[in-house]
Amino acid sequence: MYLLIILSKKIKCYFVHNFKLAANNKTMKSIWAKAKERKNGNIEGDKDIVVIGGGIAGFLTAFRLSQSGKQVTLIEANKVLGGVTSKTTAHIDCMESFIYGKMITKSFETTKDFYFFQQEAIQEYENLINEYKIECDFVKVDSYFYTQHKQQELIDEFNSLKDIGADVEFIENPNLPVGEATMAFKLKNQAIFDPIKFLNGLSVNFEIIEGVRVLDIDFKTKTLYTSKNEFRANKIIVATNFPFVNFPGWYFLRMYKSHSYAVAIDKAQDIKGSYLNADESGLTFRNHIDSVIVGGYDHRSGRPYKYQSFDRLYEKGKHLTDDGTLTHQWSANDCVTFDDLPYVGYYSKRSKDIYVITGFGKLGMAKAMASSILISDMINDIPNKYKKLCDPLRKGQCNWSFFKNLLCTLKNLVLMPLVPPFRCVKNIKAGQGKVVFYKGVKTAVYKDEDEKIHAISPYCAHLGCQLKFNPDARTWDCPCHGSRFDIHGNIITAPTTKKQERV
Ligand SMILES: Cc1cc2nc3c(=O)[nH]c(=O)nc-3n(C[C@H](O)[C@H](O)[C@H](O)COP(=O)(O)OP(=O)(O)OC[C@H]3O[C@@H](n4cnc5c(N)ncnc54)[C@H](O)[C@@H]3O)c2cc1C
Repeated sequence: MYLLIILSKKIKCYFVHNFKLAANNKTMKSIWAKAKERKNGNIEGDKDIVVIGGGIAGFLTAFRLSQSGKQVTLIEANKVLGGVTSKTTAHIDCMESFIYGKMITKSFETTKDFYFFQQEAIQEYENLINEYKIECDFVKVDSYFYTQHKQQELIDEFNSLKDIGADVEFIENPNLPVGEATMAFKLKNQAIFDPIKFLNGLSVNFEIIEGVRVLDIDFKTKTLYTSKNEFRANKIIVATNFPFVNFPGWYFLRMYKSHSYAVAIDKAQDIKGSYLNADESGLTFRNHIDSVIVGGYDHRSGRPYKYQSFDRLYEKGKHLTDDGTLTHQWSANDCVTFDDLPYVGYYSKRSKDIYVITGFGKLGMAKAMASSILISDMINDIPNKYKKLCDPLRKGQCNWSFFKNLLCTLKNLVLMPLVPPFRCVKNIKAGQGKVVFYKGVKTAVYKDEDEKIHAISPYCAHLGCQLKFNPDARTWDCPCHGSRFDIHGNIITAPTTKKQERV
C-alpha cells in the first residue's frame, strides 16, 4: 500500500512537471518562422569589414555592404536572428505613441527627417521583397492610432504628422474592431510581415560566424577580442542591440531598455490594419495569417509593472477571434534613447572606422532598414541626408529623461546592493525568483516547479547593478542597462559579455 502511494505520487509529479514544461516550451516561442541554418565561416585571420550582432540591424547592414562589393563577416554570439528580432511583433510602422507632437515642439526639420527616415524604409522593404521574390506575408496596411481619453494629444499628434507631410486621415467617430475609441486617425502605407521569413529570403554574400561572442574591441588597433581568439578588421560595426563596449561611447549612460510582451491567438478575424492604443502602455494589434498578435504592456527592464502580462494581452485580443487559443507568447527588451532618435554612425570620436547601430525604441523594423542604408552609405562615401539626424555624437541629450535614468542607475548600482536581504529561500514560491539570504550571502534565487533552487550572483556581470526577477519571462533582468540572464545565469541579451556566476 505504502509503495503504491509513493508510486502514484511519483507518476503525478512526472505528469505535472512535464505538462508544465511542455506548456512553457510551446508558449515562450514567438510566432515567426525559424531562421535558416547557415554554414559557419572561419574565425581565423584578419577581416575587412566585421559586423557584430546578427539581428535585423546587423544582418541588413552585412547584406547591404556585401551587395556594394565589400568583404563582410557577420559575427553572432548565438544564432543569427535569434535575439530581439525573433521576439518582435513586426509592424513596419512609423506610428509611435505621441512622439511627433513632442518632437515638433523642438524642431520641425528633425521631426520631418525622423518620419521620412522610416517611411522610406518601408518602400525599401517592398523593393527588396519584389526583387528577391520573398514570400514573407508582407501586407501593406493602414496604421490606426486611437484613444478614449487623450483627445487633445491625439489631435496634436495628427496635426504634427500632417504638417510634416505624412499621409494621415482623421476619423471622428471611429468604429474600430480592436476596442472602444472616441477618436482616431490613420497613417497610410504602413506594413506588416514575418521578419524571419524576409531575412531568410535575402541572398547572403557575406560570411556568417555563429557562436562567437565579441568580448572587447581595441579602438586604436581595431582588434576584436572574442570568446575564441583575437583578430583585426578595417571597419567594425557594432549592431548588438545594446552596445557592449562601455568606453568610449558611454552608451550605458545614454540609453535604457524597455521590456514588452506579445501573444498570438488563432482563429482570428481580419482586423484590416495595424493598431496602436494611445491609452494603454504600447498596446498594439495586427493579424498574421489566421492569427491576431497583441503586443504591449511595456515597462523599464528590471521593473515588472504588473504580473501576468500574457494573460492580460490574451484578454485584450480574444474578442477578435472565434474562441481562439493562445498559441504563442513571447517577450524581450529594446533600447530607448532620451531624445527618441536612434544612434547610427560613428561609435565615438576616437575612431572613424568603428560604427554603431542602436536605440530603436521598440520600433526597429523600419529603423533597422534605414540604418543599414545609412551605414553602408557612410562606408561607401555616399552622402546620406539622415547622417546628422542619427549622429550618435549629437548634442542635446542631457534632458530630464537622462537625469531620471541616472537616478535609477545610481539606486540599483549603489543603494540596492547595500540593502540587506530581509527574505530567505523559504519565502520564495515555486516558479518565482527573489534576491534573498542564501548560503550566508545575498543571492538571486529561483525556485523551480519542483522546488529545486537555482542560485546566481545578484549583481549584474555588466556593471554590477542588482538584478530583478521578471516573473512573466522567468529571467533575471538588469534595471540599469537591460542585460538579461536565464535562471542559470546564461546571457540572453547584451550589453553584458559575461555570464552571471553561479552560487
Ligand atoms: C515584444 C516586442 C515587440 C516589438 N514590436 C515591434 C514592432 O512591431 N515593430 C518594430 O518596428 N519593432 C518592434 N520591436 C523592436 C524590434 O524588434 C527591435 O528594435 C529589433 O528587432 C532590434 O534588432 P537588433 O538587430 O538591434 O537586435 P537583436 O535582434 O537583438 O540583434 C542583436 C544580436 O547581437 C548579438 N550579440 C549581442 N552581443 C554580442 C556580442 N558581444 N558579440 C556577438 N554578438 C552579440 C545578439 O545575440 C543578437 O543576436 C519590438 C520589440 C519587442 C521586444
